[in-house]
Amino acid sequence: MITPCPLCERFADPESPLVIVRSRRAVLSHMPGVDLPGYLLLSPLRHVEDAGALDREEERELAGLQSRAVREVLALPEVRKVYILSFGEAVPHLHLHLFPRTEAMGRDPELQSPGAPAAGAPDGPKIFEHFRQRLAVPGIPDRVRALVLRLRSHFGEDDF
Ligand SMILES: [Zn+2]
Repeated sequence: MITPCPLCERFADPESPLVIVRSRRAVLSHMPGVDLPGYLLLSPLRHVEDAGALDREEERELAGLQSRAVREVLALPEVRKVYILSFGEAVPHLHLHLFPRTEAMGRDPELQSPGAPAAGAPDGPKIFEHFRQRLAVPGIPDRVRALVLRLRSHFGEDDF
């Protein structure tokens, strides 16, 4: 682990208000600092900096959690798509952003693809960037805390 790694620190805290579920090798948590319930992060528990360094068990658990998490996010009101992105620039610990694109986000005329073949379709990269900034807040909003508690109960005793 590099010091400090915010994800290693979060995963070492058994009381973290952001962690939804931990398998033996992977963690699903909620993104802090954005008032967008359902914006989740999926990571290996181990400090790995790219997907090429995952072992087979990490791959398996991350894939299982990813599918399950996408189903949960798509079941939230208004969510139409889940964008999945990974950069590793600001926080090098491998993490996938699971970003809930809502119906309203997809209707914004400023955020449509300008060219073929997707003219008029929602522009995913623009929407991601725009709403991350527009919905930025300090800390963890109450409705995000409430969703984390609800999702914990959905994942319950499931085995990943
Ligand atoms: Zn780390």
